Amino acid sequence: MQVRITVSFPYEAPVSQSLFDRASVVTPGGVNSPVRAFRAVGGTPRFMVSGTGPYLTDADGREYVDLVCSWGPMILGHSHPEVIAAVQDAVARGTSFGTPGAGEVELAEEIVARIAPVEQVRLVSSGTEATMSAIRLARGFTGRAKVVKFAGCYHGHVDALLAAAGSGVATFGLPDTPGVTGAQAGDTIVLPYNDLAAVRAAFAAHEGEIACVITEASPGNMGVVPPLPGFNQGLADLCSQNGALYVSDEVMTGFRVSKAGWYGIDGVRPDLMTFGKVMGGGFPAAAFGGRADVMAHLAPAGPVYQAGTLSGNPIATAAGVAQLRLLDDAAYAKVDAVSAEVRGLLTAALAKEGVAHRLQVAGNMFSVFFTDAEVTDYEKAKTQESFRFTAFFHSMLAQGVYLPPSAFESWFVSTAHDDAAVERIAAALPAAARAAAEATA
Ligand code: PLP
Repeated sequence: MQVRITVSFPYEAPVSQSLFDRASVVTPGGVNSPVRAFRAVGGTPRFMVSGTGPYLTDADGREYVDLVCSWGPMILGHSHPEVIAAVQDAVARGTSFGTPGAGEVELAEEIVARIAPVEQVRLVSSGTEATMSAIRLARGFTGRAKVVKFAGCYHGHVDALLAAAGSGVATFGLPDTPGVTGAQAGDTIVLPYNDLAAVRAAFAAHEGEIACVITEASPGNMGVVPPLPGFNQGLADLCSQNGALYVSDEVMTGFRVSKAGWYGIDGVRPDLMTFGKVMGGGFPAAAFGGRADVMAHLAPAGPVYQAGTLSGNPIATAAGVAQLRLLDDAAYAKVDAVSAEVRGLLTAALAKEGVAHRLQVAGNMFSVFFTDAEVTDYEKAKTQESFRFTAFFHSMLAQGVYLPPSAFESWFVSTAHDDAAVERIAAALPAAARAAAEATA
């Protein structure tokens, strides 16, 4: 049991502000990933200096209950002693060898053992690399060029997949990004999410041309928008009927929503899958894998080239293996229970203030939309009253609860979110709900 000292600090964050000012001189927008800049909600991004269990501490010495968990990876909370010990042990033996290592085998075996459709897996360093490589492999395997993706699904900043993406792109409402050429995006077909008829029509219009359909297994990058019953199975069926591969992006859901990720919940068998976040234990590790006959096309076994200087890095694999081994059924039950508790408190607080909202859930991932209509695709997600989220976010922040700084992101909890952390969230919610109710556009 850790001992914590709770101190009240003013809402202003002068040290974070001064770091942000310095960062803005040497780094575009002051951050290394856009959503961190708080542009969607305004104010000073908090520069964090440490994390323990469910808490983060910023450079001004202020402590927050963390409901972002590094955008998913920290499912055991921050600085879990066994993960830290595994990392320290690995660091003491050297940080990178550029050769194969035992940690890579262990992490690959751990993934293959958990997820039946993954017969072989290749380790990379980011989710972006995983989806980029999976798309290349799908194209190399099928000899086809076109890729189907869904509006609001984010698969990292892969050129071909940055058409109508979610996440930071959703936050900023950019239709697309400069720097991606027509040629790079020209083979990407963007369809509305949860619309099987549109997928059927695309296959009919582009017969023999579609290499794969890529989808978030259960999207979390336009807020949480789960697949409607039968949608993922319908995608898998349409792909197999048309000679295309079904690529399920589990970078966010993988090892988070169950031992076997979203596959563990809906059981729909993809041809290829992508992973990241949780599997790296807080380090840059990601992966793509799937059918052995497809993976056999990857160099050096096959002709599709893919490589990485730091792929399978010994520190990252040690952290990933340690984290995955701690994620047993009891751990998922705990994360699910915390998630349900926070959701219950959240919806009760908003309802009490008469705030129209819709809580959407995918396993232990959830987000709140400030609308009362069901959100089944990106167009509907965009109709929410985001200005209410801004007021809600700042009230929570002022009371020491760190939420994703955007209305279009999933919230994440961990096994470390204990009663004290949940109580702190509960104490902050009434004022935040009131702020949301009183907010004006
Ligand atoms: N795919 C999904 C579903 C994601 O949520 C993300 C990141 O949030 C990515 C891919 C990209 O991963 P990374 O940020 O590690 O490149």
